[in-house]
Amino acid sequence: MKPSKRLGLALVITAPSGAGKSTLIKRLLAEFPQAGFSISCTTRAPRPGDRPGVDYEFLSVEEFKARIAKGHFAEWAEVYGNYYGTQKQAVLDMLAAGRDVLFDIDVQGAKALKENLGFGNTVFILPPSRQELERRLTGRGSDSPETIARRLADARNEVAQAGWFNHIVVNDNLDTAYDELRAVYLAQRSHPDLHPGLVESVVGTWE
Ligand code: ADP
Ligand code: 5GP
Repeated sequence: MKPSKRLGLALVITAPSGAGKSTLIKRLLAEFPQAGFSISCTTRAPRPGDRPGVDYEFLSVEEFKARIAKGHFAEWAEVYGNYYGTQKQAVLDMLAAGRDVLFDIDVQGAKALKENLGFGNTVFILPPSRQELERRLTGRGSDSPETIARRLADARNEVAQAGWFNHIVVNDNLDTAYDELRAVYLAQRSHPDLHPGLVESVVGTWE
């Protein structure tokens, strides 16, 4: 049987800041080398531990606006007072090469990607409670008290929209949350749309 090439899966992962999505995404990327990350552009300042060109591409506001004008982004949004945008061509190139792409983007971004590119696999990572979210944001030790207050206030509206996502994963125990996210990823990879020619190639072995 000639192996047929699988198309890349786009998996959009959304959560309020501090819910643990970067932690979960890093684990998925480490376990599955076939998956890559959609490296967004942002105008926010790098945090300690942020790897430029790996976690984000850090841009000035002027450069970000110039890229909007050039149509560089599949979607962009202002989140917590900074600009963030998904780099369209990079994502399309990865998918065309059969790589899965994980997106770490906010609620507006998830909606826009669905509308602009038709990406329908969306996962919302829920924190167990506001109190735990505050503990994690504070414990991460990378944001000022003002930034944390703003993120916590905005998180209420984000959490309230979790119901329209395809999947919800509660990140209470990290290992349990990872098992659930991993299960979603593996299940979505088996969608027939991502396996063009597979059925025909197996049927062909009867001939
Ligand atoms: P996000 O990417 O959603 O902003 P992070 O992945 O940076 O969130 O996680 C925020 C903080 O919470 C980090 O310090 C991380 O180690 C911690 N964290 C993540 N998941 C859990 C969990 N299940 N239990 C306790 N702490 C967690
Ligand atoms: P952080 O500053 O904590 O890395 O991210 C803040 C928020 O911006 C998170 O909710 C994250 O998912 C979101 N975000 C990151 N990149 C993008 C992007 O390209 N587009 C949109 N719409 N949101 C993004």
